[in-house]
Amino acid sequence: MSGMPALQLTERAVDFIDENHIMGLLAGKRPDAGRVREIIAKSLAKQALSVEETATLLLADTPQLNEEIFETARQLKKNVYGNRIVLFAPLYVGNKCVNDCTYCAFKRSNTLAIRRTLNQDELRQQVEALENKGHKRLILVFGEHQAYDPEFIAKSVRTVYETKVGHGEIRRVNINAAPLDHEGYAIVKASGIGTYQIFHETYHHETYARFHPADTRKGNYLYRLDGLSRAFEAGCDDVGLGVLFGLYDWRFEVLSLVTHALYLQERYNVGPHTISFPRIRPAVGVSLDENYQVDDESFKKLIAVLRLAVPYTGLILTARENAQVRRECMSFGVSQIDAGSRIELGGYTEAGDAQVMEREQFQLGDIRSLDEVMRELMNDGYVPSFCTSCYRVGRTGEHFMEFSIPGFIKEFCTPNALLTLEEYLVDYASPETRSAGERLIAEELAKLPEGDTKNTLLQRIRGIREKGEHDLYF
Ligand code: SAM
Ligand code: SF4
Repeated sequence: MSGMPALQLTERAVDFIDENHIMGLLAGKRPDAGRVREIIAKSLAKQALSVEETATLLLADTPQLNEEIFETARQLKKNVYGNRIVLFAPLYVGNKCVNDCTYCAFKRSNTLAIRRTLNQDELRQQVEALENKGHKRLILVFGEHQAYDPEFIAKSVRTVYETKVGHGEIRRVNINAAPLDHEGYAIVKASGIGTYQIFHETYHHETYARFHPADTRKGNYLYRLDGLSRAFEAGCDDVGLGVLFGLYDWRFEVLSLVTHALYLQERYNVGPHTISFPRIRPAVGVSLDENYQVDDESFKKLIAVLRLAVPYTGLILTARENAQVRRECMSFGVSQIDAGSRIELGGYTEAGDAQVMEREQFQLGDIRSLDEVMRELMNDGYVPSFCTSCYRVGRTGEHFMEFSIPGFIKEFCTPNALLTLEEYLVDYASPETRSAGERLIAEELAKLPEGDTKNTLLQRIRGIREKGEHDLYF
């Protein structure tokens, strides 16, 4: 591990995951329906739930109460977020890794994995391929390795922003990489990143130790748990949490995620921007027992409960899930999905129709094209959005604005979603997807109140459609 900075905990790093408390909550009795409905009402009033209240929703397991929780998640999504779904693509930059996480094909002991790090030219080619499909938002993914130090991550981010082909450009780059120290975050932040994501994988200490050997960097539970706190302290106030579901009891992990979210909110005045909830997938050189596998019904419940518990946090559903599960889960409050994803290193230019397991971290469940996913979303009544305007005009914490500023969605989010959609339709869509999109835009316009915003929006949409204008936003 030479060349990597020592893992130095700051004095105020604390382990805020109180297992006994969480276990105690989960050992509670089935709650009465009246209490569950009080909590549901609190969610509908857009108030964040406490860990205890979240536990009550998890313990409510009659079909009737479950249906009420699902319905609340659908309503929250509809009334509060609207029908937009933000789209992005993952871009794996390098799969060398010094860690040995049992579940991951990139673990250092895996001799079956083909190791590769994209050089800047190769990275550019991947970005061009993604731009040519219509993508505007990427997440760069890295193993943990001395070759992927903060300077390298920052350089990769800059290369992505600089790469432009035709009307294509990437307007937001997020990161999923190992936790850094303060200095490292500051270097990466200066390259203009959006969200820095770190998944804690499992918050259960003993399980964490089992999957992450003690002699590896990732084996240090507290250093990872404190990773996003250091990010905040270094000026990255846009962070993403996640758990790898399937390692331990999913209900424990949900309560831990809420604990982590509330901890950040309390300590830094900003909650996490997003929560991801990947379920474990098959991977080359990996065999896992299935004791804690999360079935589809439980998966839906965990998404719905998260939606109710953390109303200001975006929920990300990835292409690990197959198309049908994604379609079914979307309505429970998901706000972002990836589409047209390939996770083999170099996969956007080199991969054929089938996935090459030796070249990827795990097997994806949904490798449909962006065009196909867009069409399905629109046929289901969702407005796919590539909007990045809040970050670009400095309106950070936009989820908070969506909730707290009356009319914000109608003034900003919906118009911007429609503008980025129109741009996609003109530049990249297949004829079939374009007609589905034009139909949807007409329906959405009809729903908007008359007034200045609508007039300007109509004018801008015409500008994109008829005069080839680009990058217009409110
Ligand atoms: N190497 C960095 C780290 O571990 O923090 C970056 C993240 S890793 C490349 C991306 C994420 O993929 C991990 O945090 C983990 O949750 C997830 N992952 C690893 N193996 C997986 C598997 N077999 N199935 C599904 N997701 C997996
Ligand atoms: Fe490395 Fe991340 Fe995979 Fe662990 S999950 S082996 S740290 S790439």
